[in-house]
Amino acid sequence: MERVLVRKVTDLSAAVTEALDFLDYDFTGKRVWVKPNLLGPHPPAAGVTTDPELVRSIVRELKRRGVATVRVADNPAGRHAERLADYIAVTGVVEASEGCFLDIAEHSIMLPLKSRFTPQILVSSIVGEADAILNLPVLKTHALTVLTGAVKNLFGVIPGLQKAHMHTLVKNGEEFAELLVDIYQALPVPVLSIMDALRGMDGQNGPNGGRVLKLGRILAARNAVALDSVMALMAGVRPDRIHTNRIAAERGLGPARPENIEVVGDFEVIPGFRLPSARLAGSITGIAGATFYKLIQRRPLCDKKLCTRCRRCANNCPVQAISLSPYPTINPRKCITCYCCVEICPERAMVVPRALRSLVRRVIGR
Ligand code: SF4
Ligand code: SF4
Repeated sequence: MERVLVRKVTDLSAAVTEALDFLDYDFTGKRVWVKPNLLGPHPPAAGVTTDPELVRSIVRELKRRGVATVRVADNPAGRHAERLADYIAVTGVVEASEGCFLDIAEHSIMLPLKSRFTPQILVSSIVGEADAILNLPVLKTHALTVLTGAVKNLFGVIPGLQKAHMHTLVKNGEEFAELLVDIYQALPVPVLSIMDALRGMDGQNGPNGGRVLKLGRILAARNAVALDSVMALMAGVRPDRIHTNRIAAERGLGPARPENIEVVGDFEVIPGFRLPSARLAGSITGIAGATFYKLIQRRPLCDKKLCTRCRRCANNCPVQAISLSPYPTINPRKCITCYCCVEICPERAMVVPRALRSLVRRVIGR
């Protein structure tokens, strides 16, 4: 039976020590890749990226445990002109890494994939150089995958622009979830996860524009699927209603049923947790799900009050569906509703409309 720790945090350093003990992995002499969520240049209070103090505590504790090397690294969404450390300095994670931060976008290797979408993917070469990945996802909603946790955070093994390309290979959220599981399954090193639920995010515009929640918890597990299943339970969702969990469980990669998970510690269902309306499509699978998904596909909208017309969304749309005139407008015939523009917007000006509003837009042809 897979075990998951949920710990209410009063002393972060003590909670991190307990979480690393719980993972029951000997880090001595190992090359460890600490993989936070560094989606983009968002401050810690926004709840988008992994809390820098969690990263700091983990780096210090890993060093204390005698790791050979610890590297803190991630591939943010899209392309960026500046030096990566400058681009995401506002997250606080570069400083909190205490000299262990690494830009991994430049050096890549091909990773073979057992996937119906692609036989291989380009990943940062650190995937082949680490002995273990210590995965630090944030507990959040996601417009495309409903929730984004440990399995989804590993999409960051792929350099930014390649990530956008991956979205062109799949047709809907269910297929994207399958691709995420393909990638998780292909990783050649152990993945251990500590989830940042100090803050969380719920609502329609996750992963970067939802409502920030103060949860005060961290979770830990050796099995990323078990961890994501417990995250779903905390969010009040049946774990197998989340496509990544269901697909991974069908492949025997981890449990998506509560009776197959031992939860240790301070588990609590988050009161009033709001899911994105993608859950409507997420609850139906197969052809019916794909058809329904098409019907309620929710193209993003630009909030002109927030938009600075920086062009990042247009420059990073994988199918060039965005033009600026002078604010971003989306070509509905080109848009594949991948939400890369939502993820990449530094101002959180790209928002995902509710399913009903989206349906009305489709009917009136906007
Ligand atoms: S929507 Fe966001 S990314 Fe796009 S131009 Fe406006 S501020 Fe920039
Ligand atoms: S406009 Fe559509 S296809 Fe382009 S990034 Fe946004 S959601 Fe994806």
